[in-house]
Amino acid sequence: MQRIDHILPWGCPGTERSLSVFRFGAGERKAYIQASLHADELPGMRVAVELKRRLAELEGLGRLTGVIELVPVANPIGLGQMFQATSQGRFELGSGKNFNRDFTDLAELVAPALDGRLGADAAANVRLIRQAMLAALDGVAPAGSELQGLQRLLLRHACDADLVLDLHCDFDAVVHLYMIPQQAETFTALGARLGAGAILVSEDTGGSSFDEACSMAWLRLARRFPQAAVPLACQAATVELGGMPDTERERAEASAEAILASLAEQGLIAGDWPAAPALACQVTPFAGAEYAYAPHAGVVSFLQPVGARVEAGDPLFEVIDPLEDRHSVVCAKTSGVLYARERLRFAQPGLWLAKVAGQQPIRQGRLLSD
Ligand SMILES: [Zn+2]
Repeated sequence: MQRIDHILPWGCPGTERSLSVFRFGAGERKAYIQASLHADELPGMRVAVELKRRLAELEGLGRLTGVIELVPVANPIGLGQMFQATSQGRFELGSGKNFNRDFTDLAELVAPALDGRLGADAAANVRLIRQAMLAALDGVAPAGSELQGLQRLLLRHACDADLVLDLHCDFDAVVHLYMIPQQAETFTALGARLGAGAILVSEDTGGSSFDEACSMAWLRLARRFPQAAVPLACQAATVELGGMPDTERERAEASAEAILASLAEQGLIAGDWPAAPALACQVTPFAGAEYAYAPHAGVVSFLQPVGARVEAGDPLFEVIDPLEDRHSVVCAKTSGVLYARERLRFAQPGLWLAKVAGQQPIRQGRLLSD
């Protein structure tokens, strides 16, 4: 195991932060796994603890057949943001920006340098594109903020990987995964091993999240250079490892084993692993995910647990205005799995309270919430 520490640019003097990358194994293929980019989403960090221990063990046994880079604390800026005894890890306090939005469009960045250089040899193209991505990320103007510097470092480590996993969680949720539709098949076994309750696919959520920045770059380049052989060389998914409190040891150990089995499937670890069970959910379009809101302010009581299968018309939660006695029951508009619930119990305007993964597309435009 090799530890690489990067100092983030633009820290205030005396407050510099560092990003630590743990690198295991050697070989052609590479996987990149990061945890807690939303720094208050800790199940991923807990799973990374198990992965770090197990990868060191497997490396010692000579079983790693590729490179695996692990970043257990992907967001040291957010991790240090305590505000009145509450962790604020989703948005950078200074700018209000979501840490997992607006990653650089790598295709846009490298396309000019690739013009006229890509041909019919897919493997050669992959090498060329990865070199161009690394050079471009090194060559662009210095990061204008600590947040930009962090995003660039993360992308620099991930952009030449064959497989990228970004470990997150929702507030109160079943395990669910996001990826582009073209890669759903790659991640079905991982979803099954993790006991996923939903797998949500979208080609462009409009948020330029980390997994999209990694996978979409190849799709955009393939479309930009249709006469060249450009494969989708980076398979990337956001893995929501349940809800915020889900940091139990047994669960983290099981999730780490599920991820290791997937790495083995991708040719990065040698040896026998248990076969994946059948997937317990369907792959559904992210545009089919209903975000349910309260019609007015009030205290919330949920009427269904996370993971419940609901039909359109089934009650999801009730909201009661305690002064005016206004009482509303909010029902599902689509049939599917109730895969996430808000953790706050007072309904606020504009904040979703429940999400249902349905089969029929019902949303358009920017699919990701802030
Ligand atoms: Zn997150």
